Amino acid sequence: MKLDQQRDEMVNLLKERGITDQDVLQAMHDVPREDFVLPSFHDDAYVDSALPLTHKQTISQPLIVALMAQVLELQPTDRVLEVGTGSGYAAAVMGRLAKEVFTVERIGDLAITAAETIKRLGIGNVHVRFGDGLKGWPEEGPYDAIAVAAGGDRVPSALFEQLVVGGRLVMPLGPVQDSQKLIRIRKIDKDRYVEDDFGGVRFVPLLPETD
Ligand code: SAH
Repeated sequence: MKLDQQRDEMVNLLKERGITDQDVLQAMHDVPREDFVLPSFHDDAYVDSALPLTHKQTISQPLIVALMAQVLELQPTDRVLEVGTGSGYAAAVMGRLAKEVFTVERIGDLAITAAETIKRLGIGNVHVRFGDGLKGWPEEGPYDAIAVAAGGDRVPSALFEQLVVGGRLVMPLGPVQDSQKLIRIRKIDKDRYVEDDFGGVRFVPLLPETD
């Protein structure tokens, strides 16, 4: 099946599974996922599942990437922080919906490969940094939206601080992979937020810089 047809089918599946934001659906259609997966998984790029990267990490399932982008309510003027670049795919999707995306990855090889892919595709508004995303990227903040692409049992305080009032943060929350849920918090004041639950998910754990 041609890639274009596979992309259309993926978008139809995303619609069936609750993605209603037209801009998100368009971004999912436009970002070539085959360029972010390992070459041996090229033919599976548009299957709705997570796929392996190197270093025991994974590129997230398309539905989850789309859901995270949708619940972040990204605007064309937004500055976005992502923790956990992985392949760079989710950052590239968010880059089509927001003004600038700053993404931090703790595994050097993955950060380098993601930055190369993004450069090769001519994406100018996604910036990759190698480092500990638990600390955010304070020099470029504050952010209108923050996506945490790995699971933890609480929202890291540095990230909450780097969120503007009115900003949104999405993250898989839970102590172990089997009981994580995707939550969105909306910062309503310096130390107050409202939380919404978007259901069960499975993510790799958020790890500190050295483990
Ligand atoms: N968004 C990615 C998928 C991310 S998988 C994509 O679209 O491909 C989660 C990633 O988070 C992994 O690459 C892992 O190395 C990274 N990670 C885990 N803890 C981190 C931390 N503290 N800081 C930065 N990255 C982290």
